[in-house]
Amino acid sequence: MTQATTRNTLNEPAGFAQRLNETQITLARIANAFSPAVFASSLAAEDMVLTDLILKNKTNIGIFSLETGRLPVETLNVLEQVKQTYGYQIKLFYPNPAAVAAYVENKGLNGFYESVELRKECCQIRKVEPLGRALAGNKAWVTGQRRSQSSTRASLDVQEQDEAHGLAKFNPLADWSEDDVWYYLQQHKVPYNALHDQGYPSIGCAPCTRAIQPGEDIRAGRWWWETPESKECGLHVVDGKLVRIQK
Ligand code: SF4
Repeated sequence: MTQATTRNTLNEPAGFAQRLNETQITLARIANAFSPAVFASSLAAEDMVLTDLILKNKTNIGIFSLETGRLPVETLNVLEQVKQTYGYQIKLFYPNPAAVAAYVENKGLNGFYESVELRKECCQIRKVEPLGRALAGNKAWVTGQRRSQSSTRASLDVQEQDEAHGLAKFNPLADWSEDDVWYYLQQHKVPYNALHDQGYPSIGCAPCTRAIQPGEDIRAGRWWWETPESKECGLHVVDGKLVRIQK
């Protein structure tokens, strides 16, 4: 099993204990006041922090992931690691097979490289539509997004209103740093995606993710052929714009 102990050991970041405490309070509040609630895990490092907090504390928040059909094997391996570590099976949501077949037939298996529109169409089929099914019937959903991940997430709030899906949306790690995330994973020996140790700080579908070079933005390897402003998959976008509603 891949664990955080294979990395250089981090010292506790300044203010970490307070951020962790606030995150735990937020998760408990979601479970108590917004039930039923679900956590949308992409199985990335941030999501493993939330997975560990939710499952170890037996917080009443379900966990699901979107199995797009194009995920790297290392990401799929995390599903098994979670099952072995916590005895928990993350619920998977799959794209509509007919929609995938039509896209591949008409736009090509990798048509997303040709334009932002075709890329978003693929994300719509493989991620956004399944996400709608995963969120249906819930009062809130939780993500592992952080402000410092990219320019498109710089104004992220801990609590937002997802108007598109008609429910509350929580980003309990909004003010966490990357060091916070890795410090937590190390301290609690949480399993994580092996690609994180191969130059992939941010991981999505295999054909749309590459390793980054030292000094590059941590999301530079996602849809690397596009401009930074367009680099969202539609999961956190409404009517073509990021939705940010103040608490
Ligand atoms: S990340 Fe790439 S392969 Fe995955 S759904 Fe979006 S365009 Fe398709």
